Amino acid sequence: MRLVVFNRDGLLNEPTDNGITQLSDWRPITGAIEALAKLSQAGFTLVVANNQPEIAEGKLELDTLEAIHTRLNELVENRGGTISAIFYCPHSEDSQCPCRKPNTGLIDAIELEFSVPATDMLLVTNTHDDIELAQKVGAQAFWIRTANTESDSAVETFPDVRQAVDHIICHY
Ligand SMILES: [Zn+2]
Repeated sequence: MRLVVFNRDGLLNEPTDNGITQLSDWRPITGAIEALAKLSQAGFTLVVANNQPEIAEGKLELDTLEAIHTRLNELVENRGGTISAIFYCPHSEDSQCPCRKPNTGLIDAIELEFSVPATDMLLVTNTHDDIELAQKVGAQAFWIRTANTESDSAVETFPDVRQAVDHIICHY
């Protein structure tokens, strides 16, 4: 199984200054959604893994997070693709929980659920935490350059998710 893990905020949806705490805050990046569907149709398994400390902080209700993830799933399904699972860490930034990226808990859970070793996973991201995580577990990382993040020259870099997806379909 070819499995690709995506970060969420700033990659699949527009970032906000205070986190995404309402369904109306969650505005998809259209090209990214289309790219997910294309990758799914090409036979890849898609998983989203994201930190959601706003839950621990009391700013984000679980029901709202579920609604956001339902919306994300529906948008990809409407374009003929499937997101197989969405994993998240609900703990605070200072909790030092094992699942908050760059700790490995979410990747460990994905390994278990899909029986895919982390060394076979591809990780598409716009955060340095994810690059650190990928290096820890031996996954192949791809950096997406965004307005809010500097380039990470240590990994292959693309200007947007669509071009990363085209590269992955071509080479994996
Ligand atoms: Zn956690």
